[in-house]
Amino acid sequence: MRYLGCMEKIGGIIVTKSSPTKEIKLVDFGIANNYHDCIEIHKDLPKFPKLYDAIMQHEKGHEGLNFREDFKLDINNVPGLDYGELRNFMYSRPKTWLQFLPIWKHPTRGWIYDKVHLLIYGILITSILLIIVFGVMIGKSI
Ligand SMILES: [Zn+2]
Repeated sequence: MRYLGCMEKIGGIIVTKSSPTKEIKLVDFGIANNYHDCIEIHKDLPKFPKLYDAIMQHEKGHEGLNFREDFKLDINNVPGLDYGELRNFMYSRPKTWLQFLPIWKHPTRGWIYDKVHLLIYGILITSILLIIVFGVMIGKSI
């Protein structure tokens, strides 16, 4: 697949494995999400070509993956992504933080959930509960 330059892709279509033409929609929430019919990205992201390219490569990387592969992709660092630049981008745009909710109400798609995020939050919450339970048990035995 030919990698299109940033400006060619904005508001246009990209070519992916699962869909020969996948539309890119600009939205004012979250950072980027790959749906079966389109990829949604934050409307200001194209103004930051380095962020845009790294994030779009990541989203395209989700194409055709199973759950296990999606999970591996999401827990690893995004190649070429400047996390400092992303943090600054997010701090000045509070609605980008919706990206981290595992379940939320999309303005047009209704309630949606992210299986990978649900698993990550599940592991985190279970770990914290186990630490608390064992901490209490150890505390009682002393
Ligand atoms: Zn991802």
